[in-house]
This record gives sequence, structure tokens and C-alpha cells, in this order.
Amino acid sequence: YTGKTGTELLTETIKKFKVYEYQSVPVVVKEDSSVYDAISTMFLEDVGTLFVINDHSCLTGVLSRKDLLRASIGNQDLDAIPVHIIMTRMPNITVCYRDDLMIDAAKKLIDKQIDGLPVIKETEKGTEIIGRITKTTITKAFVELIMDEHL
Ligand code: ADP
Repeated sequence: YTGKTGTELLTETIKKFKVYEYQSVPVVVKEDSSVYDAISTMFLEDVGTLFVINDHSCLTGVLSRKDLLRASIGNQDLDAIPVHIIMTRMPNITVCYRDDLMIDAAKKLIDKQIDGLPVIKETEKGTEIIGRITKTTITKAFVELIMDEHL
């Protein structure tokens, strides 16, 4: 018997949750894709956040549902607008790394009031996207905490 309190055990368990254990597959579009194509991809892939990549497959931007809605209001020709015009771009993107704690990724989602984070890796080519953490990822980890009886 360790003599640890329930709260200490819970904290210890939560601090073992790492990004790489829960990250899902990132869905990306190219910078010169149209807003129309991005909306199609969002529906087909069933995600709420898209990451935008350049010709070297490196991260340059993020597109949310509302970014695409905003661009669509009053716009006739969504095929004519490339996503790089409307995306949130580097260096203003909040990111995380595979070895980060889930709790730190969750804090970023709350602090920045966003739905998702790219999991990135810096390479000589630039910023590679290796995964995705979203509010759903956090919800899954939260449920697993109880269901799998880690404690
Ligand atoms: P929505 O806009 O659909 O409510 P979000 O809350 O995720 O979805 O996005 C809010 C704004 O923040 C959008 O303009 C989006 O481009 C931007 N955004 C989303 N994810 C990130 C991120 N990881 N880093 C920086 N900005 C982001």
C-alpha cells in the first residue's frame, strides 16, 4: 500500500496519458485547394478541422468549420477561392508533439478556444504533420479513465 490519496493516484494516471497514444490521423488539404474542395473533404472525412500543407507536405495553415462557413456566406464561386486566402496560418498555429501529455494538449484547446491541434514533427523539410488531437480525443481519454479502471 502506497499511502497515496485518490487524488494523487488520479493525477498520476492522467499524467501517463500521452499524445501519441490517443492521436488520430490528420486530414490535410493543399494550399491551392478551393474552399469548395475543403468543404467536400470535411464532409467526406467527417472531421471539423483540416490542416493545410504546401508542396513539400509541410504545415502552413488550419481550417475550421467556421472559417469555411465565413468564406461561403455571400460567395457565389467557392471553386475560385483558394484556402490559403482564408486559413489561419503559421506562425499562429497552436501545435503539440507526440510525447506531450494529453492534459497539456487539452489545456491548449481550452486556452486558445479551438477544437483541434496538429501533432507535428520538425524535419529538415519543415513542419510535418503526424497526427491530430481534438476535443473528441480528449473525451475518449476521459471515458477510458473510468471504463478501463486504470486506477
Ligand atoms: P470553429 O471556428 O468552427 O468554431 P475552432 O474553434 O477550432 O472551430 O476555430 C476557431 C478559429 O481558430 C478558426 O479561425 C481556426 O482557423 C482557428 N484555429 C483552429 N485550430 C487552430 C490551431 N490549432 N491553431 C491556431 N488556430 C486554430
